[in-house]
Amino acid sequence: MKCEICKKEMGNMWVVLPATGPNVLLTTKACLKCARESPVYCLKHEIPHLGFLDGTTACTSCVSELMAEKNPEVETIYNEIEEGLPPIELGRLIGWTEISGKVSGLPLVIYLLKAIATAALRLGMSFDEVKKQVLEAKSIDLLKEWE
Ligand SMILES: [Zn+2]
Ligand SMILES: [Zn+2]
Repeated sequence: MKCEICKKEMGNMWVVLPATGPNVLLTTKACLKCARESPVYCLKHEIPHLGFLDGTTACTSCVSELMAEKNPEVETIYNEIEEGLPPIELGRLIGWTEISGKVSGLPLVIYLLKAIATAALRLGMSFDEVKKQVLEAKSIDLLKEWE
């Protein structure tokens, strides 16, 4: 099989990169050299990013690291969001948890942590900046992983 970026024969060492354009189903099979040069490959963890329906991407290992980093503050973060947002917005978050099923069985606080951490990496912002914008907007639109 040939690399879809450099067109060279890839052998066994290749990865599937997520699409970043409007057609999110359009993934790219790339050799490791091309993958490492692409913005949708994490050099720290040596894995391709996960693609989202809105065309953004994030490294799931980086998300996990950020979640672990923020985990000690999880109750405070949740309280801030709960106090700062209208109840309907929190209800939307609960709805998304159920739709995505990604973290089914996990408490809402952990889902919130994951949603903020994922948004931070997808959007190239810090965790605190995402939280601040959510509170300022009084909306969780920023955390939405599709559209
Ligand atoms: Zn290549
Ligand atoms: Zn990473």
